[in-house]
Amino acid sequence: MFDAQDFPTDRYILQGLAEKRGLTARQVSSPMDTALGLDQLGAALDDDVALVVLSLVHYRSGALLDMAAVNELVRAHGALVLWDLSHAVGSVPVDLSGTGSDLAVGCTYKYLNGGPGAPAFLYVRRELQSTLRQPVWGWYGQRDQFHFGDAYEPVDGVERFLAGTPPVLSMAAVEPALDVIEQAGVRRVRAKALALGDFAVRLADAWLTEHGVRLASPRGPEQRGSHISLTHPEAWRVCRALAAEAAVVCDYRVPDRLRIGMPPLYTRFTEVWDAMDRLRDVLSDRRYERYPRTPARVT
Ligand SMILES: *Cc1c(COP(=O)(O)O)cnc(C)c1O
Repeated sequence: MFDAQDFPTDRYILQGLAEKRGLTARQVSSPMDTALGLDQLGAALDDDVALVVLSLVHYRSGALLDMAAVNELVRAHGALVLWDLSHAVGSVPVDLSGTGSDLAVGCTYKYLNGGPGAPAFLYVRRELQSTLRQPVWGWYGQRDQFHFGDAYEPVDGVERFLAGTPPVLSMAAVEPALDVIEQAGVRRVRAKALALGDFAVRLADAWLTEHGVRLASPRGPEQRGSHISLTHPEAWRVCRALAAEAAVVCDYRVPDRLRIGMPPLYTRFTEVWDAMDRLRDVLSDRRYERYPRTPARVT
């Protein structure tokens, strides 16, 4: 089961696997601007569900789920949870073993600063490592790597999830990025994220409401990761104008969202102020109207 509002890859991979294996990829659809409710998730679950895939921090709204509570609820139905930590890792404290999490995946190029193309990661609870098998059978996950035998027999433990030679250059770039986060401490990173997010929301409320902008994220800082979304009917063109003319790089997300990421390690409060101020200018003088209406590919 997956969240119909989740990031496309998460949905597509499950749909693809389900199609190949004759299984059903069921959906639950979280509210667009707030977190999936536990009661809603509970109502969607039954004992046929084997796996629930959810993002700890939602890629669009930034809504943060209660990891321990979701794990407990899903486990009560005999299913596993696979957490997508892409927008959470490096931004909110994540305690996989303390919350009894089964499985997690994520990327290292968002709040872990690994740069585009940086390696992905996965987590498999120790007790599951020898029973789960990965679909890509590569030499790297083989028990006897240099035997090059006829049959694939995966090594015990988490190394079985490797398929081939790791991308060493991009892994080298992740290492110093992780060092910086370790030095700062993820709890302090989180404390600054809460303050930055709260500041951005206050400015948006005060300056942008009159221009038709509304917060499209949970209101409480504790209920979000490190980004917020704002809605405006012209979000796509506003996003283009901000990047081209105001040196403010946000993301457009369907249907009409402007996603503003504030990585705490290097985002200053003055930068949040300036970004909101420039957004106000772009809206008030309608500079965005010079940009085409149709969204392009990756920005
Ligand atoms: C960024 C992201 C991914 C990974 O995307 P790739 O382009 O495949 O690296 C996966 N899930 C979520 C929720 C994301 O935000």
